[in-house]
Amino acid sequence: MQEKLEGMNAASWAEGRHALIRWYQDHQRALPWRESPDPYTVWLCEIIMQQTRIHQGLKYWNTFINTWTDVHALAAAPLDDVLKAWQGLGYYSRARNLHRAAQAIAFERGGVFPETAEAWKAIPGVGPYTAAAIASICFNEPVAAIDGNVLRVISRYRDIQDPIDRPIGRKQVAAFATEWIHPTKAGTHNQAVMELGALICKPTSPLCSACPLESTCLNAQSDSSGTPVPPVKQGKTKVKSVQLVFNVVTNGAHVWMRQRPAEGIWGRLWEFPSQERPLESELPAVPPTEANFSSTAVRSRSVWGEPFEHILSHRRLLCRFVIWHIDGAPDLKDGVWMPWSEAESKARPRAIDRCWERLEKSCSALGNP
Ligand code: SF4
Repeated sequence: MQEKLEGMNAASWAEGRHALIRWYQDHQRALPWRESPDPYTVWLCEIIMQQTRIHQGLKYWNTFINTWTDVHALAAAPLDDVLKAWQGLGYYSRARNLHRAAQAIAFERGGVFPETAEAWKAIPGVGPYTAAAIASICFNEPVAAIDGNVLRVISRYRDIQDPIDRPIGRKQVAAFATEWIHPTKAGTHNQAVMELGALICKPTSPLCSACPLESTCLNAQSDSSGTPVPPVKQGKTKVKSVQLVFNVVTNGAHVWMRQRPAEGIWGRLWEFPSQERPLESELPAVPPTEANFSSTAVRSRSVWGEPFEHILSHRRLLCRFVIWHIDGAPDLKDGVWMPWSEAESKARPRAIDRCWERLEKSCSALGNP
């Protein structure tokens, strides 16, 4: 390793970069936003693909491009329609920011997209990685875009021993990536490193013998079953566990839905009124919610299905549904008493959506008193 380190110089980095770009030109996956990259399609792609696998994100990207063909159309769309189109992707703050960003670009910038990474960072929902990716891909600005794939590839390539999930390791990756970026083919270079991370320099078994960087990499393995290579990670902060009960209040035909506040998890999505409380606690006589049920007969109350786990980035939810079958309509303080067909059209959290069809069936079977 020492011998290799001493031999590592600007010439070998340039050689690696050249090999990387040639490899990308021959091996990149055919993806629609790569055909003729423009700021609208690339920006949509970068926002949708965050924390998302390509085959899943592609479907959403197509929906957005076909429904809102340009930034003006997206800016004019009701936020609820955008959230509905986003349903199932999770991390709904991305959809809300996407909509705010479209409005900022359409209404405050006359539809003109920023051209530099610095200017992109002022757009809602656009962080340093996304800003650099768009500015380099669409405007060829020589800035390094650093996502999880790039952190892994470069920490191996340069044998960075400090944790890449901490500032100390990330800074070293950023310093090298900035120096390494191709001065005139920045967009291609950034995409090539990311593609290499996705296809060759994989998290657990890097395919070094097929890698264009093999001859200049400080961690190349002679076979992919060899010693595990960096990156070094320090590990995530503790995830909090929460027990959450969804109260499905229905008369069979109608159901109580409420829209969550804009801030916090599932902002502006529609849910059955929920509460944090032990899943096994005894059920009270009327739904334990803020509505007034004094003049409404509760015909039955029952726990529905099995408890299930739903993982968010910083919380582990243990969820369960309770069905409250009532006569008539409750006196609501918030939310809307609506037919199931209307509730179906609302954007919902994935934790509810995954059980929606079976829940609706169970409630319809109760009958409409
Ligand atoms: S040679 Fe191996 S470890 Fe180095 S960048 Fe390529 S795949 Fe990753």
